Amino acid sequence: MNTLDTSALIAPHGGQLIDLVVPPEEREATLRRAATLPRLVLSARQLADLECLATGVYSPLEGFMCEGDYRRVLREMRLADGTLWPIPVIFDTDASTLAEIGDAAEIALSWNGRVVATLEIAESYRADKALEALAVYGVDDAEHPGVTAVRALGEFYLAGRVRLIDPELHGDFAAYRYTPAQSREAFARRGWRRIAAFQTRNPIHRAHEYLQKVALEGVDGLFVHPLVGQTKSDDIPADLRIRTYEVVLERYYPQDRILLGVFPAAMRYAGPREAIKHAIARQNYGCSHFIVGRDHAGVGSYYGTYDAQRIFETLDPQDLRITPLPFENAAYCTECAQMATRKTCPHPEETWLQLSGSRVRDMLHRGIRPPEEFTRPEVAELLIQGTTIRP
Ligand code: ADP
Repeated sequence: MNTLDTSALIAPHGGQLIDLVVPPEEREATLRRAATLPRLVLSARQLADLECLATGVYSPLEGFMCEGDYRRVLREMRLADGTLWPIPVIFDTDASTLAEIGDAAEIALSWNGRVVATLEIAESYRADKALEALAVYGVDDAEHPGVTAVRALGEFYLAGRVRLIDPELHGDFAAYRYTPAQSREAFARRGWRRIAAFQTRNPIHRAHEYLQKVALEGVDGLFVHPLVGQTKSDDIPADLRIRTYEVVLERYYPQDRILLGVFPAAMRYAGPREAIKHAIARQNYGCSHFIVGRDHAGVGSYYGTYDAQRIFETLDPQDLRITPLPFENAAYCTECAQMATRKTCPHPEETWLQLSGSRVRDMLHRGIRPPEEFTRPEVAELLIQGTTIRP
């Protein structure tokens, strides 16, 4: 055995890294058994949750939530056993599928025409979507993309332990698909103990770079971890986003102090609660610190600029081990001639170069590069090409 000693790294949430992947030697027998079970086709969102459960991204969860966990998560942000958990991880279905499954104790789950997992059914229950929307997103408003996604789910949730038979679920980003066990090994191999994680669903811009580099001053390494699960349709597609990261990381970052990985989860746009979920997941990947900037995981004007930072202050220290690294709104100040925040710059707003997302999108569509203090020219070029050739 030449597995690396990862014991110097932060413990996973709940203490133990969960591994629900069927060992290679058992795969064939499990597949034969799964072929006899009722079969459901996974949605992209279910697949992402399944992968996160099976590889320990959602440790200590071992399956889709039962009603006791679901309701306590909604009410108190805790699992039934009291562990901090902010957003339900559920498997939705509808009444007619429930009737087809009947009293089967186990079902097979398929993706792209192949059986990839099994689910031992512990329970089924009716979703409480209005409560879920209010508790998780703070609003029950059809304009909110997270609420829209919840409303589109089936009316019933299936709960139970999952087993992932085939961990090769994707053809893309293969080089960056670290499981928590693999990122922990990668950190240990580099001798890192203090690691800052950066979550994003956007192409890299100069404020991201500023946050990452300030964080790098105080830690051993940076885990750049863009989300590649489902996002809303007007977000920039993941392949294009990753290309912007590749080019900037290669040219402007010390290679021995960064690791680029991809985060398979689907985006929820739940602001503060999602910030906690993002932090828990990165703790499971082995990171000791988590960057939370302005309006983290927010959308529109549903959340206050710093709500996603304040929610961490409401937690008991024993609830969460990973340390949030809060950052104020960062932008280029033309007087300071550098990136700045209110904490470091005395000049008025007018000296700050700030562009809204829609303004930048509009510029890119028209083939105009945003100023290089906002977006690096290499990134602007990639985005102009990608944005203008896409519908
Ligand atoms: P997300 O939707 O997960 O927040 P983003 O790509 O919008 O993804 O942001 C990634 C991280 O960078 C988040 O922590 C966010 O708060 C932070 N961030 C983005 N832009 C800025 C900025 N101009 N100033 C401070 N923090 C920022």
